[in-house]
Amino acid sequence: MFGVPTLIRNGKILTSNDEFVADLLIEGEKIVAIGQSLNQDADRIIDAEGMYVIPGGVDQHVHFSFNYKGSKVRGFETSNAAAVGGTTTLIEFVNQEPGKGLVSSIEDYRKKEVDGIAMVDYCFHSIMTDPRDEVIEEIPKLAEAGYPTMKLFMAYKGMFFHADDDTVLKALIKGKEAGITIMVHAENAEMIDVLSKKLISEGKTAPYYHAVSRPPVVEAEATQRAIYLSKLAGAPLYVVHVSCKEAMEIIRDSYDKGLPVFGETCSHYLVLDESDLARPDFEGAKYVCSPALRTEEHRAALWEAIEKKWLNAVSSDHCGFDWIDQKHMGIDSFMNIPNGAPSLQNRMNILWTYGVCAGKISKQRFVDLFATMPAKINGLEHKGSIGVGYDADIVLFNPSYRGVISVKNNLEGVDYCPFEGFEQKGRAESVFLRGNMIVEKGKYIGEMGQGRFVPGKAYGAAYDGWR
Ligand SMILES: [Zn+2]
Repeated sequence: MFGVPTLIRNGKILTSNDEFVADLLIEGEKIVAIGQSLNQDADRIIDAEGMYVIPGGVDQHVHFSFNYKGSKVRGFETSNAAAVGGTTTLIEFVNQEPGKGLVSSIEDYRKKEVDGIAMVDYCFHSIMTDPRDEVIEEIPKLAEAGYPTMKLFMAYKGMFFHADDDTVLKALIKGKEAGITIMVHAENAEMIDVLSKKLISEGKTAPYYHAVSRPPVVEAEATQRAIYLSKLAGAPLYVVHVSCKEAMEIIRDSYDKGLPVFGETCSHYLVLDESDLARPDFEGAKYVCSPALRTEEHRAALWEAIEKKWLNAVSSDHCGFDWIDQKHMGIDSFMNIPNGAPSLQNRMNILWTYGVCAGKISKQRFVDLFATMPAKINGLEHKGSIGVGYDADIVLFNPSYRGVISVKNNLEGVDYCPFEGFEQKGRAESVFLRGNMIVEKGKYIGEMGQGRFVPGKAYGAAYDGWR
């Protein structure tokens, strides 16, 4: 059923600012019409009564290539987990390889591990690891190659990918020449280093101390510093995975003062907290991610922030390390636990069940955070919205479904799920990727390699204001 003209009838179309019952016609890979009583001659007619018709999600923060001391996360062969979770476009972070350029690092990785394998569409963020002068000069070339975003790690002192202020400032200045959006992982590397070493010397090595080694002030300080650097450069800034109230407020207040400063949070910061890190028998290691999980006070602040547009996307920060074989590298010290948790499949479930159903965010905000804004931030012009001319990436969402989240019905290929046992209201019943049905009755029915590279356009939403 590839590219079959398809009519989706009677669904309730949800967009980032509206909701209405209408028919939607797909021809080829595009949405070609939305209206009442459309073409009855379509080859395939789907009755979507009782379903919400929402744009396929855009997850702008995933790690399929991350490698910790030679131990690698699950790759794009598990990207069907995104599809069953209603996400049809992923943006992956790719480290610049030692001795290689920014663009060539992405293209080599793409050829080897993504093209022909991915099951949803994809784009990439560059991560600069070797800020030599010629690499700084290369930054504008990311725009021509269709990779208009770059991330820098302010955290992780001593690691090859750590970026100091010098690097962040140069990247902001150079990136602005070509409309590259600079993203930062904002945590103060020195503070973490001092606190971690002190904890270890006191014998405090359990997973819980991961959170103690990087408290909110660590994130707030680096967020504020990055904003000052972007102010000096006159460039926009995007702060990834905002986890605490202080950092969120700094972003909110800076924007209110007229600075082009934006940020996302991630699904796990909305529903998990630092008590999960204290779980016995090394279970806490499952929840080791950076920034660390916080407390209820911070979760409440983040929900308020995404509803009020103080933050403008919710990503997964998916990172598929196994608990048994990989997280246990840190059994003797939290400092050796690979950071990150798998959450690709459940981003929509968390936002809908604990956001929309709990009255914390509106359905329109849900669509905006899940699909529309991440597409705009990354310059994906034909993704993230329901409208004529957009790619037919569509989720038929069944709000009546009831289930329980478990690793047992998870496609991420990891041996645990951080949301194990969580209630799930609603699910992606059918998912279309550019007009092709890849999920039916909640089951993945697509093929490996169906995903395609989608070039991003420079001057994404951070360059033109978004509220
Ligand atoms: Zn990440």
